[in-house]
Amino acid sequence: MLEFFRRLFASDFMPHGMCLLWQPGLIGLHVASDALTALAYFCIPFTLVYLVKRRRDLVFNWMFVLFGVFILACGTTHAMSIWTLWHGTYRLDGLVKAITALSSVPTAVLLIQLVPQAVALPSPEQLRRMNERLQSEIAERRLAEEEIRRINAELERRVAERTAKLEESNQELQKLNRLIRRSNDDLSQYAYAASHDLREPLRIVALYTELVERRCGDRFDDECAGFLRNIRGAARHSERLLSDLLAYSQISDPEDGQPPRTDANGSFAEALAALEVSIKENDALITRGELPHVGVHESHLRQLLQNLIGNAVKYRSGSRPEIHVAAERKDSTWEFSVRDNGIGIDPQYSTKIFGLFKRLDPSKPGTGIGLALCQRIVDQYGGRIWVESEPDKGATFRFIVPHAG
Ligand code: ADP
Repeated sequence: MLEFFRRLFASDFMPHGMCLLWQPGLIGLHVASDALTALAYFCIPFTLVYLVKRRRDLVFNWMFVLFGVFILACGTTHAMSIWTLWHGTYRLDGLVKAITALSSVPTAVLLIQLVPQAVALPSPEQLRRMNERLQSEIAERRLAEEEIRRINAELERRVAERTAKLEESNQELQKLNRLIRRSNDDLSQYAYAASHDLREPLRIVALYTELVERRCGDRFDDECAGFLRNIRGAARHSERLLSDLLAYSQISDPEDGQPPRTDANGSFAEALAALEVSIKENDALITRGELPHVGVHESHLRQLLQNLIGNAVKYRSGSRPEIHVAAERKDSTWEFSVRDNGIGIDPQYSTKIFGLFKRLDPSKPGTGIGLALCQRIVDQYGGRIWVESEPDKGATFRFIVPHAG
């Protein structure tokens, strides 16, 4: 073996040209054919290496490299065939053939193993069809996107249109609100002036009627005395009506600036003091829970409680009036409740009773202004007032006002 490699390049055999009897034609044919084959074989591996380098995404690219080595080895055997025409270096020639065999056998084996995988690869026709499908899907998606863009633009246009219209109506509404507020102010001023000026003559009518009754009562018969009583009653009622109207017309928007802060316990006590006579007359039991500080003007809160407690006493049932006032925190507001055990209200009238001059029970004295006044006060503070009741089951009036900031 050592001897083989030592003499690897020794030309100690007969050159191959001798077998061809040095016939120039035959030698030329061999040389030309082997040279061209070798040249072609040497070109192929470089082309393959170039291809693999440029197309790193190629599947089985390692196979191209193996193929390149194999072809390079084949090319070298042909080059050796030219060399051995003149030089008897058959050891070197054998070694080159052995290397070619060693590279060709694994290439062939691997190529055979590769065939099923290569067969499974999509054919150019399949790829073309897939591509066509993809292209048509892309076109469809583009169309859909275009449609979505169009719908979006249409929606945006409509939203913009609506917003503009809303802004327009909002401005109209604000204008209307200003107008209503101005007319309300005018109306309040008018109501204030009218009720204030009318109260005085009415007071005088009531006063003189009383005087006539006292001084000349014995000179009238029963019928005339009854007339006088009716005049006095009507004058008193009108006076009450006017004073309630006056109170109603004087409810104004809370002033800007420091928001009010009122202790509801104080307002409750004041309301009870104002209702003292009626509470005593009816032997009413009035209790309360712990009441909060609220963002409502003191006189407004007192009026609210006075009206609601006063009504609860007035619209009593046969049993002793029991009234409970409480408040419960609801987010940034307080919900007050005034619960009684009185005659109750048919739910069908639960909204109507908050209207001006709306009364359900004309047998009791009243003007029908109290609840309208409560409604107006609560409205001023962005609150709400309502009643929960059933006939003969008592009533619970509830109202919501802001808590003291
Ligand atoms: P009024 O001066 O008649 O009391 P309000 O506006 O205070 O006027 O009340 C309107 C009507 O609502 C009353 O006439 C009465 O019929 C009814 N009402 C109010 N509060 C109660 C109550 N607590 N229980 C039963 N009915 C009530």
